[in-house]
Amino acid sequence: MPVKIAFYLIFIFAFNCLNANEVNIFTSRHYNSDIQLYKTFTEITGINVNVISGKSKVLEKRIVEEGQDSNADLLIVADVGALYSFEKKGLLQKTTSKILKKNIPNHLRNNYWFGITKRSRVLFYNPRKIKQKNLVNINYEDLSKEKWKNKILVRKSDNIYNQSLVASLIENNGIKFTEKWVKGLVNNMSRKPKGNDRAQLLALASGEGMIAIANTYYYALMLSGKKGEEQKKAARKIKPIFPNQTNRGTHINISGGAILKHSKNKKNAVMLLEFLTTDIAQKHIVNNTYEYSILEHIEPHPIVKKMTGNIIEDTTTDISSFGKFQSKSLEIMLENGWQ
Ligand code: FE
Repeated sequence: MPVKIAFYLIFIFAFNCLNANEVNIFTSRHYNSDIQLYKTFTEITGINVNVISGKSKVLEKRIVEEGQDSNADLLIVADVGALYSFEKKGLLQKTTSKILKKNIPNHLRNNYWFGITKRSRVLFYNPRKIKQKNLVNINYEDLSKEKWKNKILVRKSDNIYNQSLVASLIENNGIKFTEKWVKGLVNNMSRKPKGNDRAQLLALASGEGMIAIANTYYYALMLSGKKGEEQKKAARKIKPIFPNQTNRGTHINISGGAILKHSKNKKNAVMLLEFLTTDIAQKHIVNNTYEYSILEHIEPHPIVKKMTGNIIEDTTTDISSFGKFQSKSLEIMLENGWQ
């Protein structure tokens, strides 16, 4: 073989080795603990992980614009509504993996995206204002009732968690019902929607309203003391209640991952996604972010375990409907005055 060609082949080999030894994650999750997890993956496999962070819509726009030139391999986003949006725009590719199939329950994945964590959007109450016994069989559907007038705290309609919750009501009760429900809920708000989930819980603890809507991990985060003594004290003044326990179960959403259509490092991306569903990774996640594991045998963080008990999760509602009805949800919310 001529020397020139031999050099060329060595060059290509080296280039491929270098190229194959990395994976580019585009993520909307903002946890430092995720970064630690990617470092662990690198230590185990030798594959370098490059992280590009941003809001889901910003990442989506960038990936659309870059088209085939995009270097995004693995997408990680909070909320199934975001995964659905990427899927419908044709930005993902199908993935078959025995490990993902085995680890992730059926209803928390499809061929394109895969749940990594579970999160629950529940109600919180102020025990100084209302007794638990008056809330035991409460459903999300009840929040539009007259008796909650001026008593409910919830953030704005532009928040995807709220849109997914409303979408779940559309999926279960239909559009007509949901329009009425939103109208009733808006009537029942104790103030104009503002702030994030923790802001609703802080307001509730300070004596405003009677019921707040928020994701469980924010409450756990406050209780943990990681957000300071004040927030810990506030969280201790309020309690969670898990709705729909006598019927379909409490609303469950996911953070999830998917392989991007023009991924140049697909093998590595699948390997990383699989790694995120292992016991090591799942334990790390639940103990740092206070989400729920997608693996049944991994217990939640003790704070979360204590607050959750043996609740019934909604495992029957098709979670891709949260994406399917996302724009309809927002439309209904805005039309009925949910700012
Ligand atoms: Fe969140």
